[in-house]
Amino acid sequence: MDSCIFCKIVRGEIPSEKVYEDARVYAFHDIHPAAPVHFMLIPKLHINSLADVENAHSALLGEMMVLVPKLAREQGCTDGFRTVINTGRVGGQEVHHLHIHIIGGMERLPGMI
Ligand code: 5GP
Ligand code: ZN
Repeated sequence: MDSCIFCKIVRGEIPSEKVYEDARVYAFHDIHPAAPVHFMLIPKLHINSLADVENAHSALLGEMMVLVPKLAREQGCTDGFRTVINTGRVGGQEVHHLHIHIIGGMERLPGMI
């Protein structure tokens, strides 16, 4: 996707602070961190949102889920972390390229789901 900012990050056209990369996924720190640890894991393939995944994406999504705890530990989340996938308008999604937020290093907040 030419105009997608996360596709541009994958292509290196927008700089990012890389956490991890392999042939199918890319992870990088959020530009506006919501916690001491806050990075995102994205597929290199442009998928608009979780509402747009198909059976053909199953292996890719599985790889991402297996990577999440490994990368979280490497980033210092030794006592747990949160994962957030905002989806669509009601879900508050601002960047329409599927991404998993991985957030840690803070205390659990009251009222947190
Ligand atoms: P969403 O609300 O779509 O789940 O979250 C998008 C996230 O992407 C936000 O937390 C925002 O700070 C982050 N973000 C937006 N633009 C950029 C960028 O150019 N670089 C990086 N590293 N993060 C970005
Ligand atoms: Zn994209």
